[in-house]
Amino acid sequence: MAQSIKKSSFVIVYHRQPYEEAVENGKVVYKENKSPNGIVPALKGFLGSAEDAVWVAWKQVPSSGSHDFPRSVRINDSYGSYDVVRLPLKAEQVKAFYHVTSKEALWPILHSFPSKFNYAPVDWDNFRNVNRLFAEAACEQASDDAFIWVHDYNLWLVPHFIRQIKPNARIALFHHTPFPSPDAFNVLPWREEILGSLLDCNIVGFHIPRYAENFASVACSLMGAERHHVRDVKGPFSPTGTALSEPQVTTALKYKGRLVEIDAWPIGTNPAVIEKHLSSFEAGQRVAEIHSEIGDRRLIISVGRVDYVKGTKEMLEAFDRLLQRRPDLKEKVKLFCICVAPADGMSAYRSAQREVERLVGAINGKYGNLRWTPIMLSTRGVPFDELVCYYRAADVCWITPLRDGLNLVAKEFIGAQNGDPGVLILSEFAGAAVELTESVSVNPYSERSMDAAIDAALNMREDERARRLAKMKERVRTWDVEHWAQHVRGRFEGLKVVKPGQVRNVAS
Ligand code: UDP
Repeated sequence: MAQSIKKSSFVIVYHRQPYEEAVENGKVVYKENKSPNGIVPALKGFLGSAEDAVWVAWKQVPSSGSHDFPRSVRINDSYGSYDVVRLPLKAEQVKAFYHVTSKEALWPILHSFPSKFNYAPVDWDNFRNVNRLFAEAACEQASDDAFIWVHDYNLWLVPHFIRQIKPNARIALFHHTPFPSPDAFNVLPWREEILGSLLDCNIVGFHIPRYAENFASVACSLMGAERHHVRDVKGPFSPTGTALSEPQVTTALKYKGRLVEIDAWPIGTNPAVIEKHLSSFEAGQRVAEIHSEIGDRRLIISVGRVDYVKGTKEMLEAFDRLLQRRPDLKEKVKLFCICVAPADGMSAYRSAQREVERLVGAINGKYGNLRWTPIMLSTRGVPFDELVCYYRAADVCWITPLRDGLNLVAKEFIGAQNGDPGVLILSEFAGAAVELTESVSVNPYSERSMDAAIDAALNMREDERARRLAKMKERVRTWDVEHWAQHVRGRFEGLKVVKPGQVRNVAS
């Protein structure tokens, strides 16, 4: 007799698997990710709260021959017990779906860089097909009225396919990136299809009100959706006065007689975990070691991935100008630039990495000597435990993206500060800037602004540094990752009051 498979009431669909898969002594092991911070741990926090939670991700398999691996694995880790279902994708499917369509076509548009939009190599049928496979994999696990939480733009079409298979499912899609204004979004030739799928969700999430508003604008102007509910913006966001501020935000759209809720809430960091780690003996020793390696120099850190949107080039050029105009800083300042290269050498980022390496070499060659190398570059990732020691030891954290969904590094730096207060320089175009308004705000498109910001950070008096830090620390502690999780749960539970079948009706 065929056994009925128990279906899950809560499914997370995210392209990455929530652990590190390794082979030890000839056996496959699933190790908990080392970093307690970031998207994966934030999402894993939800798994423990549902008994039958499932996570759907992809796993790359060989292009030819057999690929024998368990589709579903049971994970027991500090977050609880949950199943991970792996969707097998061949290397060429991954390349076309992720490396080309997502990174060369969608990524530049999301970050408002239409000039970098690369249409020619896109295989949209493959993108659609991979999204359909994700949706089918999710639906195989889900009960009919399950809550299915899809993550990020590379799965934009998943809600549409889920809705076809499971009309009563409750579907959410959260964007971890910016969402552009209609001027940029409408460059996408597949814009109606993408929006149609997003409007098949019950709730669409963003980090900040500006991105939510951009989505509402494009849904109204292109698809004829109507704003159903708008509210004033309040904490944790500054409603006016910064480049990404919005005084009001749309919280629900009406579309084809249905209600689509919109949420704007930024992921927080985990300052308690950071503080706990930094209070350990080992971390104290490591911070002391960093101080002694740096000596009487000021330590500036810049942390991000190799990506033209991160503004690393603009930051290095500003550092060059700083050393040029301030000979007093000779041998007195050190920049630790962590610019992590993607593991799989995506062509979209190759030229950005070459440019960073070229600039670092040029600056070190221009100003350095046997005793002093002005910039230490790491294109390797620094483990989180080590990274927070650098945060603690640093005098300045210099974050200059041209556009960024949020920027967790900014919040982590604030969370790690204690003792001599460090200064955060933060681009106005990072989502976190709408929350961290006491940072030294910078416009990375303006050389004058970049120069003024680094001068202000290096010259700032201790009482001013302490004042700004205290305000930001309070905010980072209050709006932490747990707060984000509670907020999201509240929004999800709000959807549950509607019975399956009625879920897509417009609220009166
Ligand atoms: N990170 C890390 N080691 C590194 C560089 C970054 O662990 O060498 C982590 C960092 O602590 C943060 C995340 O990677 O949690 C980067 O997140 P962010 O939001 O700043 O940028 P994203 O890469 O998501 O655009």
